[in-house]
Amino acid sequence: MPELPEVETVVRELNQKTSLKEIKEIIPIYEKVFSEGSDYQLLKNLAIKSVTRRAKYIIFSFYDSDLFLISHLRMTGKYLFNMNIGINSLSEKDQSHIRCVFKLSDQTEMYYIDARKFGRFDICKDLTKRFIHVGVEPLSDNLNIKYLTPLLKRIKPIKVFLLDQQFIAGLGNIYADEVLFLSKIKPTRASSTLNKNEIKLMIDNIKIVLGKAVDNMGTTLSDYRNTDNNKGDNQNYLNVYGREKANCKVCSTPIEKIKLGGRGTHFCPQCQV
Ligand SMILES: [Zn+2]
Repeated sequence: MPELPEVETVVRELNQKTSLKEIKEIIPIYEKVFSEGSDYQLLKNLAIKSVTRRAKYIIFSFYDSDLFLISHLRMTGKYLFNMNIGINSLSEKDQSHIRCVFKLSDQTEMYYIDARKFGRFDICKDLTKRFIHVGVEPLSDNLNIKYLTPLLKRIKPIKVFLLDQQFIAGLGNIYADEVLFLSKIKPTRASSTLNKNEIKLMIDNIKIVLGKAVDNMGTTLSDYRNTDNNKGDNQNYLNVYGREKANCKVCSTPIEKIKLGGRGTHFCPQCQV
């Protein structure tokens, strides 16, 4: 499932490939790709101003309009482009999974492709209201010790806390495991037991881990692809995620995997306390 760095990579590419272009036509091939009540015809002839990200949502904004087009990739969503070559430049499999076509000015065609069909579009006017239940952006200054310390007083495993989107937005399963390894904190620790130094170290590592993953164009374990249909590179740099029974890169103890809050959780029993 794409997490923050993968969505950020897609957003940067979409921004380059679509900004200033007008939407000439939208063809939803899968009828449920727009959530109920989203009148996509309202976007016709609008020029794309920018593409940005909030949590794991992709947000298209437009010139001369107060509307926003919101996209969530869920499990297997991705964007590909024809770039004047035509739909035949896509593989047969990708062609059969096109859920929506956006015809843009400049003869660009943007395809939203989604094998599992969980991804959705919706249209909204008020971003503040739309994201009222979403926590702070981890790469922004809003994630700091003053914000996090009182929230950590709730007693839940720190890994479960890190995945709770109402506290920190977009930090997913892979990156939470990596952050806790670098911070030498066991995922099962009660969040309320973290001392000030550990909280500070964890915040620093959240920014480092996500920042590096963005630099590496995201992590591809199965489906994630960027808008050129390439895999990310960050899977080659993971310390614990997906490394069950492999030796810890620091102390050589085998990495353990447990279930925590329903999610596969990887950690070094020696390095993390
Ligand atoms: Zn270790």
